[in-house]
Amino acid sequence: MTAIPQPEIAAVHLNAQAAQFAVHNPATQEVIGMLPNLGANEIADAVAKAAAAQVRWAATLVRDRLRILSRFAELLCDQKDSIAAVISREAGKPEAEALSTEVLVVLDTVKYLQDNIPAFLRPEPVPHANPVMKLKRGTLLREPYGVVGIISPWNYPFSLPSIQTLTALLTGNAVVLKPSEFTPYSSLELEKLLRAAGLDPGLLQVITGDGAAGAALLSANVQKVVFTGSVATGKRVAQAAAVRLLPVVLELGGKDPMIVLEDADIDVASSAAVWGAFMNAGQTCLSVERCYVQEKIYPKFLEACVAKTGKLRIGSGSDPNTDAGPMIHERQLGIVQSHVEDAVARGARLLAGGKPMAQLGANFFAPTILADVDHSMRIMREETFGPVLPVCSFKTEDEAVALANDSDYGLAACIFTNDRKHGEALARRVQAGTVMVNDVLTCFGISEAPHGGIKASGIGRTHGRFGLEEMVWPKYVDSDRMPRMKKLWWYGYGPAFSRQMGGFIELLFAKGLTKRLRGGMKSTKSYLRRRLL
Ligand code: NAD
Repeated sequence: MTAIPQPEIAAVHLNAQAAQFAVHNPATQEVIGMLPNLGANEIADAVAKAAAAQVRWAATLVRDRLRILSRFAELLCDQKDSIAAVISREAGKPEAEALSTEVLVVLDTVKYLQDNIPAFLRPEPVPHANPVMKLKRGTLLREPYGVVGIISPWNYPFSLPSIQTLTALLTGNAVVLKPSEFTPYSSLELEKLLRAAGLDPGLLQVITGDGAAGAALLSANVQKVVFTGSVATGKRVAQAAAVRLLPVVLELGGKDPMIVLEDADIDVASSAAVWGAFMNAGQTCLSVERCYVQEKIYPKFLEACVAKTGKLRIGSGSDPNTDAGPMIHERQLGIVQSHVEDAVARGARLLAGGKPMAQLGANFFAPTILADVDHSMRIMREETFGPVLPVCSFKTEDEAVALANDSDYGLAACIFTNDRKHGEALARRVQAGTVMVNDVLTCFGISEAPHGGIKASGIGRTHGRFGLEEMVWPKYVDSDRMPRMKKLWWYGYGPAFSRQMGGFIELLFAKGLTKRLRGGMKSTKSYLRRRLL
């Protein structure tokens, strides 16, 4: 069995005078440890300390930052089992999932940053097309914001904050991270690893606490906020950010559709649906939350899903044989149960599960399959965030696309078909930040792929090139190659100048060579114009 490190925490947390809160193991409900609910003053102090450290950090060479990153990766790789155990203990997921969907994707992000950060931060020449502007040299610089506030949810307590933190740090920022009050130890592990790798302690500070601590972070002197969580909290974060005109990335909820076309391999598609709906007990922003199957294969697809669901082993995440663990807390389980009950009351057929598994613990809910669902049901409109696979049939592809797009959300979607090209063409019609063809969920593990949604699923992106761009602000340096020349468009206006400008516009944009040449003749006179200043 893996040795789980004791919940060790940094001195700042031990010294805090704040009230404490308990962190529970969702499988057993045992208390894992107590942590301080930090107040506004302590959080403002952490941000001030981060700001001071950031000034030094922004001046360091990229290769020095990369050296710390490499050391971090080495430590994480060595300690992968104990880190997975910490994640599993507080989030409930099987340790195998903690390794595959958390530790592995973080290490992959490290590789992405190692490969891409030097070129990304290199000053980028910007060639000018306009012949007059060719007299100027354009350069794009990418400047760090300063202190980035990161607020995280509980469902991916290690990978989400780690990917965002590493991206922010490598681009020259400091980070103050507020993890979910349900899963703070995974972020404290990240903090420990980075400090052991040689990072200045001021540059990443984990502040523990509940929603009030998140709100206090938004009021502190951070220059950018990256928030991941529910739509309801995301709206509050956006409002608080608007007061300060704080730039913000919002990674919010999803109601991801899966479309299964009649030419799809039923065995593959049903395995994908079962894994996509029940992985992490269905508590993934990218979970399959709606499944639309073409009518010809609908009965066989349902049959396969029910048979495969019956084989899943439900239990504690620390048991290596567990496929699906508990939900995070009873409140979340209550939402799932109410969605299932509403669907059944409105005519859905319950084919599997549908109820809590109290014999295993208070937070366990049986993997559930509902057939013949429709869009009048909450299960097809609101984020369920639990182990439920609601399925219905469709006749035509147009109908499937209309159903997939009939949602307030737009995080991701997937299409199953044996005709890859056709799937890609259909993907263009689906409104979502990511559309996978013949896979589910896995886009989160691709470090190059931008992650984020449209509609209520959020604003902005994390991961990949777009994720890097979110951590910097662009500074354009425009340097004139002719410092001793007064510009043609400076003061000295009058009818002649207007004619010359007209000529210049024609030279650049008029249709036909003759018109352009005539414009060119008119504009050359502007060089001889008398200037006022
Ligand atoms: P949540 O919104 O309840 O909490 C998220 C974080 O916000 C927590 O750290 C919480 O303490 C903090 N918070 C609460 N109130 C706050 C306030 N007023 N100001 C600032 N911070 C505040 O979400 P959750 O229940 O922890 O996570 C589940 C949700 O997250 C789901 O909706 C899921 O889809 C979403 N999610 C989205 C993504 C994505 O990448 N799009 C990834 C994972 C989870």
